[in-house]
Amino acid sequence: MRLRELSRGWHRAGEVVGLVPTMGALHAGHMSLVDRARAENTKVVVSIFVNPLQFGPREDFQRYPRPVAADLELLRRASIDAVYMPRPEAMYPPEASTRVSVGGLTSRLEGLARPGHFEGVATVVAKLFWASEADRAYFGQKDAQQVAVVKRLAADLDSGVEIRVGPTVREADGLAVSSRNAYLDARERQAAASLSMALRKAADAYQAGERALAILHGTLLEELGREPLAQVDYAELVDPEDFEGPGTLAVLAVRIGRTRLIDNHDLAKPFPG
Ligand code: AMP
Repeated sequence: MRLRELSRGWHRAGEVVGLVPTMGALHAGHMSLVDRARAENTKVVVSIFVNPLQFGPREDFQRYPRPVAADLELLRRASIDAVYMPRPEAMYPPEASTRVSVGGLTSRLEGLARPGHFEGVATVVAKLFWASEADRAYFGQKDAQQVAVVKRLAADLDSGVEIRVGPTVREADGLAVSSRNAYLDARERQAAASLSMALRKAADAYQAGERALAILHGTLLEELGREPLAQVDYAELVDPEDFEGPGTLAVLAVRIGRTRLIDNHDLAKPFPG
């Protein structure tokens, strides 16, 4: 059955539908959003779609992990109500020419580093909202700028979808869980801890009373500078709404070998763990 018909049937029966959009390779970060959606809705749809539109031509679309059987098994155990796995040809038939473009904050940071990325994200998210007619959709704070883009889109297009944001799930050493962590070899995996370490050090400084953003920024750069494998794409302190500086949201994009990792933390809050 098509997802929209399923969702309409649920709505007729008084159900409340939560949507968790993912690109698969499901991990604890995704599953925390699934658990929250289960707790807050009577029906939960998880979408798995590696969205070609949000990858740049030199990015990792081809090698992005697609462990479909393992993903379906995880979702079976989470007893959700539907998995939506559209084929790329069905999402983007050759004649499709509509793109959703969110202005302003998409021209900065992640948007600047990855031209077209947020247009790809906004287009697929709008399509998922229309296809699912969800009441609520769940996104991770791990992708902070994506959260801001999706909130803008949901409001600007009168989507009627309420956006809920889950906290970043981390490994024991602080590394934000990510499907891309699978690319890291053992030495790179160690080096990857430098992102969360930098966020922790800066948050600790804030907790200790430091309020000068230039000094907190210096702390971030100094920590990242300690790790020889870390190549900083950006490390900024911005406002969490518009992603323009200055503000207390620390946003990082760092290359470890061939793998590009992002992380963020609002320094005004204690770093977890
Ligand atoms: P992705 O499959 O990478 O597109 O992620 C799907 C959703 O899971 C997005 O809303 C992400 O922000 C969220 N997510 C990814 N990693 C984490 C994490 N470590 N903690 C919380 N949410 C996450």
